[in-house]
Amino acid sequence: MREGLSVSEAQAIVLEAASPLGAETVPCADGLGRALAEPVVSGRTLPPEDNSAMDGYAVRAADVARPPATLSVVFEVPAGGHAPRPLEPGEAARILTGAPVPLGADAVVRQEDTERDGDRVRVLVAPAPGEHVRAAGEDVERGETVLEAGARLGPAQLGMLASLGRTSVAVRRRPQVALLSGGDELVEPDGDVSGGRIVSSNSYTLAAACREIGAEPHYLGIARDEPADIERRLRAGLRCDALVSSAGVSVGDHDHVRGVLEKLGCRLLFWGVKMKPGYPFVFGRFDDGAGPLVFGLPGNPVSALVTFEQLVRPALLALAGHRALHRPRITATLGETLTKKAGRLHFVRVRLEREGHEVVARTTGNQSSGVLRSMTEAQGLLIFPAEATRLAEGEPAQVQVLDPDFLASAGSGV
Ligand code: AMP
Ligand code: MG
Repeated sequence: MREGLSVSEAQAIVLEAASPLGAETVPCADGLGRALAEPVVSGRTLPPEDNSAMDGYAVRAADVARPPATLSVVFEVPAGGHAPRPLEPGEAARILTGAPVPLGADAVVRQEDTERDGDRVRVLVAPAPGEHVRAAGEDVERGETVLEAGARLGPAQLGMLASLGRTSVAVRRRPQVALLSGGDELVEPDGDVSGGRIVSSNSYTLAAACREIGAEPHYLGIARDEPADIERRLRAGLRCDALVSSAGVSVGDHDHVRGVLEKLGCRLLFWGVKMKPGYPFVFGRFDDGAGPLVFGLPGNPVSALVTFEQLVRPALLALAGHRALHRPRITATLGETLTKKAGRLHFVRVRLEREGHEVVARTTGNQSSGVLRSMTEAQGLLIFPAEATRLAEGEPAQVQVLDPDFLASAGSGV
């Protein structure tokens, strides 16, 4: 087992092991946020025929090249209707938005550019050939690949599937994630916190972090610090796609998780990642491919969440078939000077503020890995590179943006 990897080395190993899960067919209505398991090839031409983009009159452009010109209105084509016959010279058809353009007509004149008088219409402006006509196939040609495998299904993609007549779609399965917390001091939120006991908040942060990206958490409860209880609970998670355990992976006398994992047949690929918070992290897998990817996270609440961000979240997104695996990154200006020892990459919890054309990053205060407040107030994680020892106020730095509201608040919205 390798020990003391850089964050990027660790991430590469994890992602190498995280191949997309199998496909399942779901009703399109349930497809939001999922990754397509196969490309979507259109069986239809959209629109199927030339149709009008306006309410007005279908004409032969040549008839009205020198306006004003008066034409006979010979029939009407409503949306969903059809012209009874082709349009002859000197004729116009009343046409409504979305209705097929009659044969013979090659342009539509807006109603506002005409004067109607009984069964005649005076056209006041000359349309260019093709004006206000939506050409057959201008949206999609039959046989065309409209969506690539791996595309994320959002509102537009689901609307497109509906237009193509699809009611179901093949997507990658949602990762099933077993979550275990471990420690004799831990209780559930409504438990008794006297005598040094604390709430197992990690169970809740990690479950939410899974749900946020469409993975389904399965809670294995709180294991006591004894191998038998850890083993019994871990076994219940072996059928999931990933197993995320927090605490008990360090080198303390009561840290049994690593030993139990090995006993169950999990091969540990690495231990220890040169990051802060979060050095004590293990990753393993079952070589027969039958078991889950195994992530052993540190117990401290901030370490658990930050290691999840860096090493678990991208892997779960990859399992779910997504192509975008990482948080958006921006360049921010440091609002204060930061120092540290060389050796580990620090993820500094920062608030972000727009000041003129730049974004200024300031720490959220106490950066101890037990202070969950530093995360609740963090809009981003500032990357303080492993070998750097000082980042001065006013210098640029890379920040992973955690808060979607921060990105959404940019500019005026148009
Ligand atoms: P450990 O990895 O067991 O040494 O735990 C490190 C620290 O994280 C200790 O202070 C634990 O009490 C705390 N901790 C462990 N598990 C959890 C959890 N599920 N929720 C909140 N804090 C935890
Ligand atoms: Mg413990």
